[in-house]
Amino acid sequence: MTSYLDQDITYLKGVGPNRAKLLNAELGIRTIGDLLHTYPFRHEDRTKIHRICDLTEGMQNIQLRGRIVSITKQGEGPKRRLVASFTDGTGYVQLVWFRVSKHLETMYKVDVDYQVFGEPKPFGHYFSIAHPEMEELAKVINRPLLRMQPVYHSTERLDRAKITSKLINELVANAFEKLPTALPEVFPPALLQEHHLVSHHQAIRDIHFSQNAQAVADAKHRLKFEELFFLQLSILQYNRQRKVDYEGWLFPRVGRLFNDFYAHHLPFSLTEAQKRVIKEVHADLRSGRQMNRLLQGDVGSGKTMVATLVALLALDNGFQACIMAPTEILAEQHYKGISAQLEPLGLRVELLTGTVKGKRRKAVLEGIARGEVQIVVGTHALIEPTVTFLNLGLVVIDEQHRFGVKQRAALWAKNTRPPHILVMTATPIPRTLAMTVYGDLDVSVIDQLPPGRKPIETRHYRTSQRHLLHQLIDAELRKGRQAYFVYPLIDENEKLDLLALEQGYEAVRKAFHEWKVGRVHGKMKPIEKEEAMREFSTYETQILVSTTVIEVGVNVPNASVMVIENAERFGLAQLHQLRGRVGRGAEQSYCILVTKDNLAETTRQRMEIMVETTDGFVIAEADMKFRGPGDLDGTAQSGLPFDLKIAHLVGDTALMAEAREAAARILETDATRQTPQYAPIWRELNRLRQEQQNYSSIS
Ligand code: ADP
Ligand code: MG
Repeated sequence: MTSYLDQDITYLKGVGPNRAKLLNAELGIRTIGDLLHTYPFRHEDRTKIHRICDLTEGMQNIQLRGRIVSITKQGEGPKRRLVASFTDGTGYVQLVWFRVSKHLETMYKVDVDYQVFGEPKPFGHYFSIAHPEMEELAKVINRPLLRMQPVYHSTERLDRAKITSKLINELVANAFEKLPTALPEVFPPALLQEHHLVSHHQAIRDIHFSQNAQAVADAKHRLKFEELFFLQLSILQYNRQRKVDYEGWLFPRVGRLFNDFYAHHLPFSLTEAQKRVIKEVHADLRSGRQMNRLLQGDVGSGKTMVATLVALLALDNGFQACIMAPTEILAEQHYKGISAQLEPLGLRVELLTGTVKGKRRKAVLEGIARGEVQIVVGTHALIEPTVTFLNLGLVVIDEQHRFGVKQRAALWAKNTRPPHILVMTATPIPRTLAMTVYGDLDVSVIDQLPPGRKPIETRHYRTSQRHLLHQLIDAELRKGRQAYFVYPLIDENEKLDLLALEQGYEAVRKAFHEWKVGRVHGKMKPIEKEEAMREFSTYETQILVSTTVIEVGVNVPNASVMVIENAERFGLAQLHQLRGRVGRGAEQSYCILVTKDNLAETTRQRMEIMVETTDGFVIAEADMKFRGPGDLDGTAQSGLPFDLKIAHLVGDTALMAEAREAAARILETDATRQTPQYAPIWRELNRLRQEQQNYSSIS
């Protein structure tokens, strides 16, 4: 059996070297097994005929049966189109074809009945379906209704090579027909029963070829469970192993550096929450086990000071510490802040990012290797193999959502024992998700802001209310405060984004001509960015127009207004991050969300949430709900041991919890991996890990 599944897809009827190459390059399909396990991402329900009066906005492809009552040519030149009015007796829809050819003009006929398939979109008073699939009803009426039609992922290259969903499904059918036996089952019967799972064989059959919606749902349930089960088994087993394998460095001492700084150089007194977190971290550092702790704290809650104090604990015990930031701007800012604060202690603190080059870089690297650099602040550049430490004891990772199990493992190789790790984030991660992505982390929370902060007032203005915005900013500028204008990345097209920013910049300069306006965006040279930021922080400019490069961590306490243009284009979590750039001083600050006048209902609701709450946890939960699972997965997934093909981290949380429990139980009852009935499970886990490893080594 295994040998059949491992065969190259070129053995299949219909797959020559060209198709094989494309399927491999575009969808990662190399073997027959890969092909069978390439799941459709949705199904078109061709078992149902809809009524026109039941159509609603947002429906995917549907089927209608009815009659064409008129066909007209409309528009001129490139806008020329053919429009047919179509009715089933319950209402009318318009069928529309663009790029009209002579052939098309005569293809469909008035007063003939058709079965129509396509996506209805509201258009004026009617729904319209562009380029529908059409069949004469007389030809289909005696045929059994088509089944649940699978839709597989496609790419431009596959499209061009005419490798359609239909073709992929045919190839899967060829592979399935030739199976020498049923596909092997990894779960014992008792487990299948307990979790109401169909067999693996049945699931694979039904997800590709099914006549009814329930069978597809059952198949998906089974395959999702399987995927989540192995994900959890892998994470849980890895945690257990880590706790056994990795002793941590012992930091028993609270020594001169920490005490001196704490007693004489703290610029403010710590909040109770900051003190509590430092105690929790300190307990880890004395435990003899490696610390892996996630610190959640809202924007402005003072995580950086916690990082600094924890670094001093490492130094007091004879170790080096490093602090990693997601962007160069933020790394530089951390570096400046921290080295200034620690100045009186006479330490060597260095910056290491991609822009530190040549002689300077060499000197920093040597200092780190010799142990002369005690604290190094930097970006991802720090995990490169060229960076070797004399004695790294602690790593702080700031705002790194993509920093998962695999990346952390790279850090572990930097000393004979892995360093202690503190991950800090202002984007609260709902519990179920944190358990999965950071399954092996303990969690601390700073749930308190430094005293004297006024909550930021958030307002939502539409384009037509722009004059209100100008009044507010004008008043703030006259009080000696400063303002940000942020523009979104509009699409993947950098030129367009830049254009929007430039136009915005000109408009702001015109509207506030008495004031100096700076600008910063991702395409500028680091030194120019730096200069623009510096001018803003020293009040040489009073307004800063920027793209989202200022999103994380930038700190100018005198800034009191954050204007977010095209706010509808941002996710809630991102709006929250941006808003956190103001409200850092004791004065009242404002965040203004500017959107166009006409908003979709969900956009209006999202703006409302921002106006109503500044609680990061509430916002994070709402963000997931609005964005749905799809968007988040990409980010969160890169931290996982395996990629998910069918389950969703966010959408399938209940199933995730169930799978986690099942995995934990098996780990518990079969710790030695000797129970014969679980042998297939352990084999599968090894196979998945192997596969992932091969994959990451080639990609
Ligand atoms: P974040 O948690 O978002 O990283 P920061 O560490 O940047 O927050 O802190 C935000 C601001 O609050 C900084 O200017 C910092 O100096 C200040 N701050 C931090 N802790 C306190 C405190 N206990 N009292 C007063 N100000 C504080
Ligand atoms: Mg921060």
